[in-house]
Amino acid sequence: MLNKNLNSWIPVASNSDFSIYNIPFGIYTDATVKHHVCSAIGEYIIDLFELAVNGIISLDKNTLDQAFLNDFISLGKAVTNPVRSKLIEELSNENSKLKTDLVLFNKVFKKQSGVTMLMPVRVGDYTDFYSSIDHAVNIGTMIRDPKNALMPNWKHLPVGYHGRASSICVSGHTFFRPKGQQKPADSELPVYGPCKLLDIELETAFIIGKSTQMGESITTEKADEYIFGMVLFNDWSARDIQTWEYVPLGPFLSKNFASTISPWIVTLEALEPFRTKGYVQDPKVLPYLQYRGERNLDIKLDVILKPENGDENKLCTSNYKYMYWTMEQQLAHHTVNGCNMNVGDMMASGTISGPDPSEYGSMMELTWRGSKPITLKDGTERKFVNDRDTIIIKGHCEKDGIRVGFGACEAKVLPAN
Ligand code: MN
Repeated sequence: MLNKNLNSWIPVASNSDFSIYNIPFGIYTDATVKHHVCSAIGEYIIDLFELAVNGIISLDKNTLDQAFLNDFISLGKAVTNPVRSKLIEELSNENSKLKTDLVLFNKVFKKQSGVTMLMPVRVGDYTDFYSSIDHAVNIGTMIRDPKNALMPNWKHLPVGYHGRASSICVSGHTFFRPKGQQKPADSELPVYGPCKLLDIELETAFIIGKSTQMGESITTEKADEYIFGMVLFNDWSARDIQTWEYVPLGPFLSKNFASTISPWIVTLEALEPFRTKGYVQDPKVLPYLQYRGERNLDIKLDVILKPENGDENKLCTSNYKYMYWTMEQQLAHHTVNGCNMNVGDMMASGTISGPDPSEYGSMMELTWRGSKPITLKDGTERKFVNDRDTIIIKGHCEKDGIRVGFGACEAKVLPAN
């Protein structure tokens, strides 16, 4: 897979997220197709159902005619990895029937701009971690004590909470500004109304590709077998609701009203060339959390705010490599007590901030709780997210001229209903 000389006979722009090295998986719909498993190359989607019907790949076509990827993923990496390899082989072979047979080409390839991407997986359970040290230090400094910003457990375990799967939506959706209880600083009693401090959290998430039984634990060494791939993730957060509700059990209604993911699941195999070092873990972690080698990933992340009918404004640029805890450690910790995993379960990283203020992954940090508003190109200011603002997260890896990306993770806020 590290053959750097792969070239697709379908032209791929140098800034495309969907090079021949990517070959992600998703679900699409259009005027004629209700839902098919698909991949992507350049500006096209690749219809895997049509590939099976036409004998290019030998998979049960019913698995590819589904609303979600769960059944496909459940086939296991022993099946799904060869499907990726077969696609790469066909796309780099100038004599492929897919290229020479125009009728077949038109059945299999469709412009991405002409289809709608659907939610890629049915998410059974969703967990959100809190694994970026720069983020945890920033928040701890703001709401507690700069000298003791991290809680005593933070460097010993990847802190997390169980989130809500029902409101995870695929890129392109809208949602209503959440309403709820808030306690104004100058009042003894809470008030009820639309959230005033609506925030974003720049995150990624990984998708479980292999189920476990209750009582089983996944080691850091075996974790990759259980991780199918990754998406971009926006963990929308109502800060005023959160501040009032979160003690002592953590976030509840401040988080469960909406989360946004990118539609393409980029496989762990496609991300493998972009492994890199993470932060040194000091103090040393317990044996079940230890790992060997470079287990972080160099994924450049951008967050963009677009006011209605306005220009795009970049809010921050961060990188997944700043994660203190790796996905392997998160999964080992999540299952160390025997908690079972199901295919399609989603584990989000936690807000990914870097050390520089331009790398903060939430408005809370970027504007330091609203004390340093951001001025947009149109002259308006933002402390948090306004009604009718669209937030777009983008992410990609790039090394030696090879680019693998996620596409966009985009959602628009509507006024409270
Ligand atoms: Mn979060």
